[in-house]
Formats: sequence, structure tokens, C-alpha cells
Amino acid sequence: MAYSYEAPVSQSLFDRASVVTPGGVNSPVRAFRAVGGTPRFMVSGTGPYLTDADGREYVDLVCSWGPMILGHSHPEVIAAVQEAVSRGTSFGTPGEGEVALAEEIVARIEPVEQVRLVSSGTEATMSAIRLARGFTGRAKVVKFAGCYHGHVDALLAAAGSGVATFGLPDTPGVTGATAGDTVVLPYNDLDAVRAAFAAHPGEIACVITEASPGNMGVVPPADGFNAGLKELCAANGALYISDEVMTGFRTSKAGWYGVDGVRPDLMTFGKVMGGGFPAAAFGGRGDVMAHLAPAGPVYQAGTLSGNPVATAAGLAQLRLLNDAAYAKIDAVSAELRSLVGDALSKEGVAHTVSAASNMFSVFFTDRPVRDYEDAKKQDVFRFTAFFHSMLEQGVYLPPSAFESWFVSTAHDERAVERIAAALPAAARAASEATA
Ligand code: PLP
Repeated sequence: MAYSYEAPVSQSLFDRASVVTPGGVNSPVRAFRAVGGTPRFMVSGTGPYLTDADGREYVDLVCSWGPMILGHSHPEVIAAVQEAVSRGTSFGTPGEGEVALAEEIVARIEPVEQVRLVSSGTEATMSAIRLARGFTGRAKVVKFAGCYHGHVDALLAAAGSGVATFGLPDTPGVTGATAGDTVVLPYNDLDAVRAAFAAHPGEIACVITEASPGNMGVVPPADGFNAGLKELCAANGALYISDEVMTGFRTSKAGWYGVDGVRPDLMTFGKVMGGGFPAAAFGGRGDVMAHLAPAGPVYQAGTLSGNPVATAAGLAQLRLLNDAAYAKIDAVSAELRSLVGDALSKEGVAHTVSAASNMFSVFFTDRPVRDYEDAKKQDVFRFTAFFHSMLEQGVYLPPSAFESWFVSTAHDERAVERIAAALPAAARAASEATA
């Protein structure tokens, strides 16, 4: 497919990058392979806008895949970072910033009695399942198809996000021994979970699930699904791990826990809590967390864990996320959902706008989407046409039909108007697209 607009500077940067970096990117979905065309190299971001290397401005609906919930370059976050940087960038010792960030997390999310800071969501989920295995003395981990928990070997089976985008069945390099202890089940299917516990009595250490999945597109848990998982885990001596790397501090002040109130044994966080820097965490029940080194025997560590600049950014961001901020994000999300839905309906494009609190995505199908199999049945080629039309008109969507769209407190009337103005042509492009 040829695109009528060009991005010569991005193209030349991408050419340079492709020489020294596999596929030209440091995280696969950035490469635009699912939608074609030249990935945009961004040079700056302010509020809801990004500017690329060719000088074009976009309304950003990716928000760095979630973290930038206050928009780009929020003055108070930048000031906190500058203040922290002025005192040094890493000490390899404990510092007050990490205590304050941990206190903020514990204060917001009631099931988290203790928390350990790490540098990425992947590290958080990897450490949480190690801890679950160490605590229970069991090996098996249950996960759901279409849920992505980072690129942890044991959790890459039938994963969402880039793995879904590229339709990768399995990843070479993950050994049978590692993946053999992972049981992959269909999402939103409690009978399958019941059957797995029956098939592996006393062997399942934990069930890990995205609190509300956003990595196969947005597919919220059916009523009672998370509560059912919790119950089945409790009845079978396994831990219930809620991965809130994406939903945490985004879907409410207390993340998805603040929405459904189901109490996990362990939780994982990332994205928003780092304020655009590499900071993530896992935490939960005090008796489980007490098994972690140096308090207990399960080893886990990190040179840059609790980095003072990252914790300053995260803390500044979280402190700004009050009820008014969430009300604003929820309202912008609702407005955009209805604008997108109306534009697609007007052009007769089969679609479902799927939301979980303020996270949302569009499936190009009118059949209900409850799991990964349903998500895969959409007309991806229509998304591709829609995406490129939006991009051409200055709206930056996730370059994949299997990702959540994100908004921020900075998405004001002007930004929404620009999106609204781009939608009719994009909906028309989707309707005219052919497979
Ligand atoms: N868990 C979930 C739910 C995620 O969405 C992601 C990333 O998108 C991760 C874990 C991994 O986080 P990171 O990319 O910081 O390693």
C-alpha cells in the first residue's frame, strides 16, 4: 500500500536506525510493520501534541502507551525531574524518593501492604511470578490468551500487544522447559480455569491476568470474572496476581482495583507510576512480600531500582492525579468514543467501541469481543486504512488494531476538535478499504 504523504526525515532516521538496530526500533510495535509506512521519529511533546522530525504536529492518542496521563512535558513533572537531576542521577543506595513513592502506592491501593520498586513492567511481572512460585512452592502459572505481561519468557505464550500485532504463535528462544509450566486459557472463561485447577491439583502457583486487558485491544472482564478468579485461587491455594501495569493509576485513582474492588494477592504496576521514566513495581499481601530478599529467600534486585529521577517523576505525576484529573480523562475518553462511533456508523463501518473506564479501542467488527479469538476476527485492513488517514491528518493512533488508545488531562477542546475534524475522512477510508 502506498501512502500519499511523506516523512523524509523520519525515513532517513529509520534507514540509519535499521543499520544499527534490529528492525530499526527498540520495541517492535513502534516499527509500523502491522500498518505499513514509515514510523514517525518524534522530537518533542507538549500537552496532547507530539512533533515529529519532519516538523509535523500530531494529537497523541498513544501517550507513550499509557504513561503520559498528564500529557507531555507537564511543568510540575519536569520541575520535579530537574530538581532531582540537580542532586545527581543514581546513588545505588536507598533514598527518600523511593520511600515516598512506595508510600503513595500503598496509600492509594488498599491491598498493597508492601511494594518493591523495579524499572519495567516486565521486571514487575517476572518478579511477581517468581515470588508466587517461591511462596507456594509450586511451578505452574496460569495466564490468558491475548493478555500481555511484558516479555517474560514464561508469559510470552499466546501474549497480546506486539505478539498479537504480529500474530507470533510462539517466540523462538523460549525453551519448552520454561513455557511448559505455563497454562494458557481463553480469557473470560471461568470454566476453563476451574478445569485447569482440576487437571493440575496442587501444582498451580498463581493465576496472572491483566486487571482489565488492553493488549488485545480493550476487552474488559465479564461481570464476576475477576471475582471468580480470586475465589478459585483462594480455594486451590494459588495466588491471584492482577497485572495493573496498564490500568494502574489510570482507570481510577486506585487503578482497576478502584473499579471492581476484587482484592488481589499480588499486583504489578508500571507506566503511569513512572511519569515517563522507567519505574515499575509489584506489591501486595505483607506475608507474601515478606518472602522477598533481603527479608526472605526469594531473590530479586536491580541496579537502578527506585532511581531518584524516575521516582521523582512518578511521585510528581501521581500527586497531580486527583479526582478532578480522573473526571477530566473519563470525560474526554467518553467524548472521543462517541465521536469515533458516530463517524464509523455514518459510513456504515461495522465496529465496536470497547471501553474499560477511560481506556478504549475500536474493533472493526460488530460481533461481541470477549476474548482474543473474537478480537482476531475483526477487519484489521479497515483499521489500517483508518490509522493512515488519521496519521495523515495529524492524529497519532497506536499503529496496531490490538492496542488501547490513551488520553490525558491535557486533551483539551482544541485537541478533541482536531480529532473530530479528522474522523469523517478516516471513517470513509475504513469503509472503502479492501482486504
Ligand atoms: N503488563 C502489561 C499489562 C502491559 O501492558 C505491559 C506493557 O505494555 C507490561 C506488563 C510490560 O511492561 P514494560 O513494557 O514496561 O516492560
